[in-house]
Amino acid sequence: MESQATTRWVYSFGDGKAQGRADMKNLLGGKGANLAEMSNLGLPVPAGFTITTEVCTYYYANGRSYPADLKTQVEAALADVERSIGSRFGDAADPLLVSVRSGARASMPGMMDTVLNLGLNDETVRGLARRSGDERFAFDSYRRFIQMYGNVVLGVDHHHFEEILEHAKRDRDITLDTEMTSADWQAVVQDYKKAVAHALGRPFPQDVHEQLWGAIGAVFGSWMNQRAITYRRLHDIPADWGTAVNVQAMVFGNMGEDCATGVAFTRDPSTGENRFYGEYLVNAQGEDVVAGIRTPQHLTVAGKLANKSDLPAMEEVMPEVFAQLDAVRLRLERHYRDMQDIEFTVQQGKLYMLQTRTGKRTAAAALKIAVDLCAEGVVTREEAVRRIEPSSLDQLLHPTLDPKAQRTVIARGLPASPGAASGKLVFSADEAESLSEMGEAVILCRIETSPEDIHGMHAARGILTTRGGMTSHAAVVARGMGRACVAGAGELRVDYKGQTVMVRGVTIKAGDVVTIDGSTGEVMLGEVPTIQPELSGDFATLMGWADGIRRMRVRTNAETPLDARTAVRFGAEGIGLCRTEHMFFDTDRIVAVREMILAEDEAGRRAALAKIEPMQRRDFVELFGIMKGLPVTIRLLDPPLHEFLPNTEEEMAEVAAAAGIDAPRVRHRALQLHEANPMLGHRGCRLGISYPEIYEMQARAIFEAAVEVFRDSGETVTPEIMIPLVGSRKELDILKAVIDRVAGEVMQASGRRIDYLVGTMIELPRAALRAGDIAASAEFFSFGTNDLTQTTFGISRDDAASFLPDYQRHGILEHDPFVSLDQEGVGELVRLAVSRGRETRPDVKLGICGEHGGDPSSIRFCEQVGLDYVSCSPYRVPIARLAAAQATLAGERVGRD
Ligand code: PEP
Ligand code: MG
Repeated sequence: MESQATTRWVYSFGDGKAQGRADMKNLLGGKGANLAEMSNLGLPVPAGFTITTEVCTYYYANGRSYPADLKTQVEAALADVERSIGSRFGDAADPLLVSVRSGARASMPGMMDTVLNLGLNDETVRGLARRSGDERFAFDSYRRFIQMYGNVVLGVDHHHFEEILEHAKRDRDITLDTEMTSADWQAVVQDYKKAVAHALGRPFPQDVHEQLWGAIGAVFGSWMNQRAITYRRLHDIPADWGTAVNVQAMVFGNMGEDCATGVAFTRDPSTGENRFYGEYLVNAQGEDVVAGIRTPQHLTVAGKLANKSDLPAMEEVMPEVFAQLDAVRLRLERHYRDMQDIEFTVQQGKLYMLQTRTGKRTAAAALKIAVDLCAEGVVTREEAVRRIEPSSLDQLLHPTLDPKAQRTVIARGLPASPGAASGKLVFSADEAESLSEMGEAVILCRIETSPEDIHGMHAARGILTTRGGMTSHAAVVARGMGRACVAGAGELRVDYKGQTVMVRGVTIKAGDVVTIDGSTGEVMLGEVPTIQPELSGDFATLMGWADGIRRMRVRTNAETPLDARTAVRFGAEGIGLCRTEHMFFDTDRIVAVREMILAEDEAGRRAALAKIEPMQRRDFVELFGIMKGLPVTIRLLDPPLHEFLPNTEEEMAEVAAAAGIDAPRVRHRALQLHEANPMLGHRGCRLGISYPEIYEMQARAIFEAAVEVFRDSGETVTPEIMIPLVGSRKELDILKAVIDRVAGEVMQASGRRIDYLVGTMIELPRAALRAGDIAASAEFFSFGTNDLTQTTFGISRDDAASFLPDYQRHGILEHDPFVSLDQEGVGELVRLAVSRGRETRPDVKLGICGEHGGDPSSIRFCEQVGLDYVSCSPYRVPIARLAAAQATLAGERVGRD
């Protein structure tokens, strides 16, 4: 290990070379690593240096202090920047100014602090004025710096500065910042400094080195601010990654009409089309574009026309610089082999690159880009498959507006993030969160969003803003979260106080339902019906590649015809779990099940079962018909009793009538059956052991359905009959004997041979431990990781939500173990059961049907332990297909061959 004395804490870049590289993201953060890479590529990057994420780690581990030798390293790197730029930091005649920005390993847009124009003070501002020949620009920069530094580093509230500026404009009877003269800005600077001195009891720092260290400290400090913490929680970013700090020579996009600043994507981030897509502002400084303060202009003429903009494109205004930028675009795409999101500034006709990173994109764009890059020979099919985030497919599987539906379009904005969403209109993030917690669908409407709003954006179905472009905060964050978003719907007049929005003479109040279409930018009154998505094109192509790669099969958990059909449409290769008790939740059926459960003797049960059997048979015939010969695993009844016992007098009377007994007896029996811990009670195979006639009826319905399907369609069904909640081989043997007997009887009666398998859920720790013995009787195992998680942790699956957040906050659990498999605990039992089961029966078929079967990280685990298939809810089937392919590519399977 390197000793601390020799650790490099600071990495320089600029002038066509750099000490860092793109693959050093962990150390330099994404921004720093890519600034280094662009410098190495010879692109025009203003010189600067990156203070590493290790300093951030050190800072928090050592009571917010720095390594002893950091100061000398920063001074040396700053001297390099001075040499490169040809001006000195703090020099009254020709000052070097720098920006100080955060830059973590994963991009966290807008979450941490940034300071621009650092190095200005009462003396250097005059140097800047002389050097630029523009005194007004110099004082405008100085007041921006005091405001930004005052707020971000010194903690002086925004409103102090905003009030001063408002007064200044009112006194001079002007409305636009651009009308302020140099003298006006000088007066504002004086007032800003006074406000800082008044708020802090000491003057605004004039020492540029004090300014620099103040800003560095603020950026490291912002790693632990509340919004960064929230963002990390939502995006699974560990706190110990830390942020780097980038200090870079300032270039100015606001020095006149030959200056500009902009952001761009090398391909369209909404559709994925291979066309340059970006926005810029003439005579503006960095954050102005993203902040949505002015409406940005399009880079290309095509973009301008497509968006019906009247403002000239950069391609027209600055053709030479645009040509350079277009060349940089191609260069970066070829180098990084992926779509890039870039930031640039033009200072007096010269182009500077300030950032490049892999661009965030919609799921549809991600698919198109991956498929196109493969067709262009840039990436292989495997890489294309690897690049799609499985859970992002969710965005494509959700409904879009029915084109035939009536709609009242009341406004239009930019199609900032696709998908359609309806909900009650709300005007604040807090309101969005509280209403959605009450189960309401909401659309969050803001003039523009800021990082403070992310919890509300997350809670909302859709986001609507009246200001800002395709790269505004709302647009970028909504795309990342997969929320529908219409941005910059400028016709809307929002009145936060009155809780209304006005448009074309119509007033919409908070709580009124609106619909937005993030694919067209339309805003509509009321709820508009939606239709299912089309699963062809790039989606089908990429999923086809994934299917060609993956080893594990993907089945679905389904018992209704609708779910089964949906799952087949999404590519399910069978049913991995048909929960038969779910087939009886309908009001017209539950009475028969209640009657069966409440019966006092076998005769009573058989009478109720006789009513149920034909319904079961019809259900299975339909299911087998939909699945057309694909495997179907039917789990015999597993009703936690509390879900089925009658609760109200009415329900008891209904059961009494159906069974032909009196209500008091029903009430008495229901009391008798009441359990304190129903999830650990008389459910699963325990019910079958007590009352074998139940499973006998179900087995008969299954086998007779198989015979009927063959007779009517010629389709051979091989049912897989699964026994739930088994803890010992004895239970399985007793129930398997019942099934085998019924199979024999049906075969005898029908004269047809029926192939079938009998297997078991592994969902109790004892079953996992005894898997070697159980496999002697079970032809397949399906891991019921919902119950296995519940029983391994001893945490009720129904009650965990009240305290799991505390466990996550304390870091006891990283994820909710009912969502993402606890690989070290529950996973250990799965591994054990797999190996013991295979020892006894090498070809035992292995699957998973708990919720984890649709969770990408759990799917990777299933691949590692060598399961044959995963089974998940219908809407997760495509996610599982892709995640399974990625798991195969990760090649981490162990313990089988
Ligand atoms: C399980 O326990 O994981 C399972 C799939 O069964 P259920 O959720 O029906 O208890
Ligand atoms: Mg279970």
